[in-house]
Amino acid sequence: MTFADLGLSDELLRSVTDSGYTEPTPIQAAAIPSVLMMRDLVAIAQTGTGKTASFVLPMIDILAHGRSRARMPRSLILEPTRELAAQVAENFEKYGANHKLSMALLIGGVSMGDQLAALEKGVDVLIATPGRLMDLFTRGKILLTGCSMLVIDEADRMLDMGFIPDIEEICTKLPKQRQTLLFSATMPPPIKKLADKFLDNPKTIEVSRPASTNLNITQHVVPVSAAKKRDVLRQLLATEEVRNAIIFCNRKTTVRELNKSLQRARFRSAEIHGDMDQSSRIAELERFKSGDVTILVASDVAARGLDVKGVSHVFNFDAPWHPDDYVHRIGRTGRGGATGIAYTLVTPDDAENIANIEKLTGQKIPVLDLGNAPAEPAPEAEPVEEAPRRGRRRPAAEADAAAPAQRERAPRAEREERAPRTEREERAPRTDREDRRPRRDRDDRYDRDERRDERPARYVQQDAVEDGAWNGPVPAFLNVRIPL
Ligand code: AMP
Repeated sequence: MTFADLGLSDELLRSVTDSGYTEPTPIQAAAIPSVLMMRDLVAIAQTGTGKTASFVLPMIDILAHGRSRARMPRSLILEPTRELAAQVAENFEKYGANHKLSMALLIGGVSMGDQLAALEKGVDVLIATPGRLMDLFTRGKILLTGCSMLVIDEADRMLDMGFIPDIEEICTKLPKQRQTLLFSATMPPPIKKLADKFLDNPKTIEVSRPASTNLNITQHVVPVSAAKKRDVLRQLLATEEVRNAIIFCNRKTTVRELNKSLQRARFRSAEIHGDMDQSSRIAELERFKSGDVTILVASDVAARGLDVKGVSHVFNFDAPWHPDDYVHRIGRTGRGGATGIAYTLVTPDDAENIANIEKLTGQKIPVLDLGNAPAEPAPEAEPVEEAPRRGRRRPAAEADAAAPAQRERAPRAEREERAPRTEREERAPRTDREDRRPRRDRDDRYDRDERRDERPARYVQQDAVEDGAWNGPVPAFLNVRIPL
């Protein structure tokens, strides 16, 4: 099947070709014709499947005719995080290059003045996080009665982040006669209920999880004691052919401290987590995308759905608490048909987490034993140069020469540095951790402050004050009215 078979306009076909796509992904092949026929849609699909283009492309053709009016967006796309919203905006820019549609991005953490000015002029596409949207709505700055198309993206993430009441409220503000598209990686009962309530005879599409079936990603678990995690990570970074890597941690404190320790060891690394304001997050992400830094240490919320081309490695410094997060994390590599490698450092405490991941993906993750499993008495951190050579791994010196981007010079101090005391300190007490694991809906799925970044409308009133204080540069794609 080709894109031309899907019924898209010639202008869009040109944009698709310019994007380098030769054939539609399964979700695109299944969704685009139905969306063009104005049907409601429930799509069970994750990031990495090409799902963004599956709604953005037909939306552009549908919206190509008609005019926008002041404060009345013609279509609305709801995203759980600012990063995802910004990413969808980038997609609109790319695919809409041959159209004259206008777009506004409504997210917390950036100046509200520009966003209001854009809305005032009228936009064809409004991409928003629920909190900021509800905030503006309750202030009477926006009317949703002209919005004939609604996309609820990453619905299960919305559920995790406590946004479902806001989504329901938003749905009631839109006209009844509209087209609604709902995308979700999983279909837990509250999302099913949401779909039943607000969608009209939707077509349902399901595409397989990309990571559970993505044979392009080589996966390993690496047994390690909690005290040796940093040593082992550096060992892997030094001896693997790491072009660039995202390192996931479960907590923001770990993100910050690990990044600092990597920088001390002369790795070119940056960090991204929910405590950072939006401009800093975007700046750090841009540094990673441009190759200015080769390592991005990230928390789950901040990195959700990130689409960075050519990430060679994903490291789970902490095994994720929820198996879905594993699938999501390793899906940052092996994208678009490329190969990728994912390592997960596992301590004895992680046994249950790994078992849950293997149950979800239906795959046993091979073990790479570097000799750092806790059973072994290992009083001294092993020198990097003595790393065992196995499989595709290479000696440190050779790897350094071949991949100079990884670090500026071989770190001597890192070998002497003891395992991080803070890692121990920041771990929650056992009872607390066990309490958290099976409950998807608890606040502690994310650190409380991390959730605050995407807080629902009732908590966002102070945004205006914060926004007034923010005077950093607005990145190009956040400039709110972008002629497409
Ligand atoms: P998404 O699932 O929307 O996050 O998309 C994942 C990645 O696939 C993005 O980098 C897209 O640019 C890319 N992509 C989307 N559609 C196609 C396609 N038909 N062929 C190749 N790559 C695609």
